[in-house]
Amino acid sequence: MTISDSIKHSQSLLEQISSHPAVSSNEEIQQTLTLLKTELSSIDIKARKLLKSEPESILSGTQPEIKSGCYIFVNEKGYFCPNCYDNQGNKVATTRLNRKLRVCPICRKSIK
Ligand SMILES: [Zn+2]
Repeated sequence: MTISDSIKHSQSLLEQISSHPAVSSNEEIQQTLTLLKTELSSIDIKARKLLKSEPESILSGTQPEIKSGCYIFVNEKGYFCPNCYDNQGNKVATTRLNRKLRVCPICRKSIK
């Protein structure tokens, strides 16, 4: 189930609750439900924006590929430390120790 499906499902559940006789006669609950509906629609809009922006970032080459445990970028040569990139957003080129092992000069993480 995608995010949009979950939101749609939540919205239809909310409709069911608000049309229930025990709820529709209670103004206080109705008001809260209206607020909840507003919240859900704003989540819906935000989720759509997020889903739209995802393929763009892949196309622009900012999404790294993983090779030999390191990140590689479309426009850059070299093997970068995934640890530093994920945590600080820094592109740190790893150093080759031997045939099987690379090491990051910044965080000292060894990468196989
Ligand atoms: Zn590192």
